[in-house]
Amino acid sequence: MNYIRENLSVVHERIKVACLKAGRNPQEVSLLLATKTVSSENIKIALQSGETLIGENKVQELKEKYNALKDTPHQAHFIGHLQTNKIKDVLKYADCIQSVDRTELVEKLDARLQREGRKADILIQVNTSFEESKFGIAPQEAVSFAKIVSQYDTLQVKGLMTIGLFSAEQEQVRKCFQLLKRLQQQIIGLNLPHFELNHLSMGMSHDLETAIEEGATMVRVGTAIFGTRIYPDSYYWNEQATNK
Ligand SMILES: *Cc1c(COP(=O)(O)O)cnc(C)c1O
Repeated sequence: MNYIRENLSVVHERIKVACLKAGRNPQEVSLLLATKTVSSENIKIALQSGETLIGENKVQELKEKYNALKDTPHQAHFIGHLQTNKIKDVLKYADCIQSVDRTELVEKLDARLQREGRKADILIQVNTSFEESKFGIAPQEAVSFAKIVSQYDTLQVKGLMTIGLFSAEQEQVRKCFQLLKRLQQQIIGLNLPHFELNHLSMGMSHDLETAIEEGATMVRVGTAIFGTRIYPDSYYWNEQATNK
């Protein structure tokens, strides 16, 4: 069997075991394939074995793969740091933007969507690990940011997204996921217009079990399916790197 299919079945089993341990229905958790640096051929193998959801970090890559994968049914989410000069393309090629994290971005997304006369699905990204190298709105600003987002009815808010702390200590990682869940509950309590915060996008190759125990509805998995990437994640996550 192809290693991608083999890895996929291992990951689905991990999701199932974590759900059962947490008393949850495995159907509640969807798997998003984190496909940065992965070739379209390899993504196709995954999609053809039943996967439906991919996530890209760079708009250029999203666009290239859109063309290569357009005949293979799937949805593409944008999960990387979004620069405002890429808004037109990201709206063209992504079904959902998971990384909305600042007012300037909200304003520019809205302006573009108004011009196009349409709406877009988004998640709000929160920096629950408080690490400077990661993007996302600061947790203490998340509620007021949600109120700002609610003023723009072109943005349909489907949930929250976070990248957990990188640590071998799962209890430290768990705190990030618990924080995201608390923020979700707090924001739901505000009953904001065009907010339907059903999704908690959290958990990756090394921490998906913890995320599922804390309420993840979508886990984003790359390495455990496609193998180790050549580029370090800092290439995708650090401010300096993304300015290149
Ligand atoms: C790369 C990436 C993932 C997946 O990470 P793995 O450790 O490879 O599973 C998830 N979310 C985001 C935002 C990513 O950039």
